[in-house]
Amino acid sequence: MNDASKKSLSESVAAKGAPISEAAAGAILTVDLGAVRENYRRLKARLGGVNCAGVVKADGYGLGGAQVAAALAAEGCAIFFVAHLAEGMLLRQALGSRPAIYVLNGINPGGEGEAFEAQLGAVINSAGQLAAWRAAALRAGHKLKAAIQVDSGMSRLGMAAAEVEAVTADPQGFDGIDVTFVMSHLARADEPEHPANEQQRLEFERLREMLPKAPASLANSSGIFLGQPFHYDLARPGAALYGINPTPAEPNPMLPVVRLQSKVIQTRMLEAGAGVGYGHIFRTAAPLAAATISLGYGDGWHRRASAAAFFDGVRLPFLGRVSMDSIVLDISALPPDRLKAGDLVELIGPSQTVDQVAGQAGTIGYEILTSLGHRFHRRYVSG
Ligand SMILES: *Cc1c(COP(=O)(O)O)cnc(C)c1O
Repeated sequence: MNDASKKSLSESVAAKGAPISEAAAGAILTVDLGAVRENYRRLKARLGGVNCAGVVKADGYGLGGAQVAAALAAEGCAIFFVAHLAEGMLLRQALGSRPAIYVLNGINPGGEGEAFEAQLGAVINSAGQLAAWRAAALRAGHKLKAAIQVDSGMSRLGMAAAEVEAVTADPQGFDGIDVTFVMSHLARADEPEHPANEQQRLEFERLREMLPKAPASLANSSGIFLGQPFHYDLARPGAALYGINPTPAEPNPMLPVVRLQSKVIQTRMLEAGAGVGYGHIFRTAAPLAAATISLGYGDGWHRRASAAAFFDGVRLPFLGRVSMDSIVLDISALPPDRLKAGDLVELIGPSQTVDQVAGQAGTIGYEILTSLGHRFHRRYVSG
């Protein structure tokens, strides 16, 4: 990637929010939209001719919903999923009227008017949501789009068998509703050998037979890797687009998307016996070179996540607790005076993947990404 293309991309998206300049920020988050696009192409290749949506809930898994969705749209993605009505309204502004946008959690009671004004499709999870959407269609005077979600075994969202039976028994149950597809979600798709996947698939088939005939959608990122029987008519990947490994037992088939770097604020030589950070949970045994960086739990870096930063590929372990705005690093592995104030150390990137950071924090890559805060200088590049 060249510097000119970097600049024009970041400037074109900066107009949307209140951008934080590189000089004003403590840390820099780089999002490679070219990698997002390549990941979309890789998933499409796995899917053969099956349509592929983009899941951009939680602000595009923390990476910038508008930017990520625009990159996917440029790749031909025409169906997007968000979780909340508010996310859908923002995305509609960002993408214009063309793409289909569905709200996974369904429309909150009272939100139907805003939803149809923004031309959002509802994901209907219950008989109550169905009735409210039907009433909204009646008020609108035209059919409204909806995906019907059935609960095939996750017990989280969607209509289970008894509710599907009840709504289909009502001859007017789907009046005014354009059922664009029937969908369900897998609980254990990242465990390819687990029998729960096939059980859910069979239950999905049974429930969709009972509903108005429509295309079907079951697979999230990991579901795509369960093979063709799980693909149906539309896949709904999120995580894999952002570089999270959809096949945790195997090497990551996706490209990394995120790089997080933080600035060194100061360096110091600690004396033997010095306590470091809140609670002095670390104490030096001998003199030790340390650096303090400008990143902490206020940036979404979990306080429990003891980890390391990297500089020139050299691992620099955290010392003591993560503070709100800073972390102290052991830099004794570097030559003296190699690291200076203003230098950037890497927290996520080539030396340390999102999935590795998550493993050290006892969580998943999804939570690492969606935790990333709003204090960073954000760079959108296409490399
Ligand atoms: C979040 C979500 C997805 C995307 O899941 P990934 O594991 O991120 O690919 C798909 N479908 C539903 C219903 C979801 O809630």
